[in-house]
Amino acid sequence: MWILGIDTSCDDTGVGLVRDGSVVVNLVASQTLLHQRYGGVVPELASREHTQVIDGLVQQALLEGGIEVSQLDLVAATRGPGLIGALLVGYTYGKGLAFALGKPFVAVHHLEGHIYAALAEHPEVEPPFLALIASGGHTHLFEVPAWGTYRLLGATLDDAAGEAFDKSARLLGLGYPGGPEIERLAQQGDASRVPLGVPLQGQEGFAFSFSGLKTAVARALEKGYAPADIAARFQQVAVEHIAQVVTRAALHSGLRTLLVTGGVAQNAALKAHLQAAGLRILFPPRGLATDNGAMIALAAWRTQAQNPQNQLNLPAAAYLPLSRAP
Ligand code: ATP
Ligand code: FE
Repeated sequence: MWILGIDTSCDDTGVGLVRDGSVVVNLVASQTLLHQRYGGVVPELASREHTQVIDGLVQQALLEGGIEVSQLDLVAATRGPGLIGALLVGYTYGKGLAFALGKPFVAVHHLEGHIYAALAEHPEVEPPFLALIASGGHTHLFEVPAWGTYRLLGATLDDAAGEAFDKSARLLGLGYPGGPEIERLAQQGDASRVPLGVPLQGQEGFAFSFSGLKTAVARALEKGYAPADIAARFQQVAVEHIAQVVTRAALHSGLRTLLVTGGVAQNAALKAHLQAAGLRILFPPRGLATDNGAMIALAAWRTQAQNPQNQLNLPAAAYLPLSRAP
């Protein structure tokens, strides 16, 4: 079974092809350079750029996959959450294509895509498990008791983890996206030189908080600490905070398998720290952690491919919580 997956939720156009649950093609047209000089994503520019590139990207994916468009069995696209104008480009393109082909169209929740990306190389994994999404817009910890059921255990009270990396990087005079930049600079720094505390010490729940950390970065700069030392301490504290919350959730739920996904899941310090926690931790393979189309096709394969409901009448949604808990 061939599934085409499309994601245009933010500033990357993602098109992927999945065959029988395996990723065959994953193409991402990044808009980072387009938005860089504005210091953030400009929604209208993102939508226009998606419109420009989406058809070419789908044609290229079919070419690389070695199939004709008529061989697609199902088309899946991100329904939300995201920038509505951007979402609509991929979502309506996917609907139109499915309708023209007479094949089912499946709507996918963006976070569901991120979750299933972490299972791309682990077809044997079955629920229940924990799933942490640490991306540019989310820091959400879910318990997944069954395929397609998501119970929110905790989320960030303020900034998302990736957002904190991006904002702190900006304060430190680094480029965008900030995560990889901070990771690079941190290697040259000494974390023990900067006194930044781990957020939400003493909480009994599973909340995250990163905005105080970002403010502490600004204060540390004012006090004259070296940027490399600040970057090292910021990363250490962010990683420690995430590790504390997920380890507590593992203890509380009794679940020993944790999926960690979203752009921050690429952070080597986070990987190393979590792997030392005695849990079974699964990360997305390279290229599947940040936004892409293959993860949307994978989610469709896992949750709906066996019994696809044609969802042509379902509208896109900028705001869309992921909770289909019974
Ligand atoms: P969302 O899915 O919540 O809408 P998004 O899809 O835009 O957000 P992703 O593409 O999953 O987010 O991730 C991008 C974020 O990941 C950025 O904030 C970036 O700084 C961060 N990031 C990427 N690589 C790293 C890294 N090595 N260390 C820490 N953070 C990273
Ligand atoms: Fe995303």
